[in-house]
Amino acid sequence: MIRLSKSIVGVEEAQAVAKVITEDGYLGMGKEVALFESELASFLGVNADHISCVNTGTSAIHLALEAVLESGDEVLVPSLTYLASYQAISASGAVPISCDVSADTLTIDLNDAEQRITSRTRAIMPVHYASNPTGIDEIYSFARKYNLRVVEDAAHAFGCKYKDQLIGSFGDIVCFSFDGIKNITSGEGGAVYTTDQEVAQRIKDARLLGVEKDTEKRFSGQRSWEFDVTRQGYRYHMSNLFAAIGRVQLRRLMTEFAPKRRSRADLYRRLLRDNQFLKFQKIEEDTFVIPHILSVRVVGGMRDGLKSELEKQGVQTGLHYKPNHLLSLYKTEYSLPISEQLYKEMLSLPLHPEIEENDVYKICEIINSYLIQ
Ligand SMILES: *Cc1c(COP(=O)(O)O)cnc(C)c1O
Repeated sequence: MIRLSKSIVGVEEAQAVAKVITEDGYLGMGKEVALFESELASFLGVNADHISCVNTGTSAIHLALEAVLESGDEVLVPSLTYLASYQAISASGAVPISCDVSADTLTIDLNDAEQRITSRTRAIMPVHYASNPTGIDEIYSFARKYNLRVVEDAAHAFGCKYKDQLIGSFGDIVCFSFDGIKNITSGEGGAVYTTDQEVAQRIKDARLLGVEKDTEKRFSGQRSWEFDVTRQGYRYHMSNLFAAIGRVQLRRLMTEFAPKRRSRADLYRRLLRDNQFLKFQKIEEDTFVIPHILSVRVVGGMRDGLKSELEKQGVQTGLHYKPNHLLSLYKTEYSLPISEQLYKEMLSLPLHPEIEENDVYKICEIINSYLIQ
């Protein structure tokens, strides 16, 4: 069986976790998380005050939205995203407003989004689908024009660049996921980058039950016994154990994971380039993409047949994603034609740093011989 995705962790991560257990012994949020935050900050080239690690990518988005929105505020979001983006919006008391995506880039279609603006619209959440950070300039000018906050769902895009700038080194608020199969993992985990110092402080407090300035105490090995709370908070902090895994993964990203993911994705594109039944996502020149997933459109009504054929031959595939506006909880009265078409045509092919070139050749051979019938 060739797996769709996989956590790539080994002895180094295991030793780092063992060290926290045997040497430090403090498993909550402490020194190791402080180190992970400062290493993330220096990787991104930003100040560590602006980075907050949390327990999942979903809670990163939830805290980011709650820091800037009020109940009933509307958030423009592409329907083609992981359910987590939507659940984080509704958890914050805001309302997700489903938008269509552009058929070529698979990112939010601003012409569609513009039509959905109301007097309650307060934020836009671009999703860097399949790690594609294209069009960020347009999103930020759109946000300036309509006075919106930007909360980037960059769960796919850790390590990616737009015009030579790392995602999460500029902008308003950027949320990452470090779950088991993302570009780097901390077991489970996430992080928020924001340029806004006040938002950063709110997020740091909210991840620890809203206890004011608790982060600073914990990072110096203390606890808050006497404190005040002014806002809703959560137990969304990251554990030292998870941070230890994340620190090792961060060191492996650019040397090991990124070249593998990029070259395997390139190989797929090259071997499938001439197949007229397949359409790949457009990747712009001014981006650096470390692909978290590799989704391709299978046209001509052949997707389901191809999916079964691949399965029969031991190749796992995926569907990213069922559009959220089709789910009962987020059902819209309007339709989103591109997202609905993509739902019928998208197929995600195996991609992770341990896929061998031979596997890719084998998969593409199956695809090319099935799709000419
Ligand atoms: C993975 C993911 C999330 C959520 O991250 P978790 O760490 O799994 O909670 C959010 N949005 C997108 C697009 C994702 O792929």
